[in-house]
Amino acid sequence: MKFLKNLLSPPNPTGKFYTFSVKCKRCGETIHGQVNVYNEPSMELDQKGKPYYTCRKVIMGNEHCFQQIEVLFKFDAGKRVLDREIIGGEFVEN
Ligand SMILES: [Zn+2]
Repeated sequence: MKFLKNLLSPPNPTGKFYTFSVKCKRCGETIHGQVNVYNEPSMELDQKGKPYYTCRKVIMGNEHCFQQIEVLFKFDAGKRVLDREIIGGEFVEN
């Protein structure tokens, strides 16, 4: 997928990107992705008015499999991951 390749081409500056790996539920391919924690997440407010950030991404592997994997990350104000969800695959640790 074009945009994913563009995202993966520069080396990872520490602290700017949150990287993750997922495994496609259909074909088992492992796909790596990343979130630019300064640009991509959008701010939301919890019930107490405290800000947090969410980022939703749809990713696909490079194999001939058209399974779309949807991931949702929730970050705190310090851009640490609070929660994550996935549809169409499962998270694998790097
Ligand atoms: Zn697949």
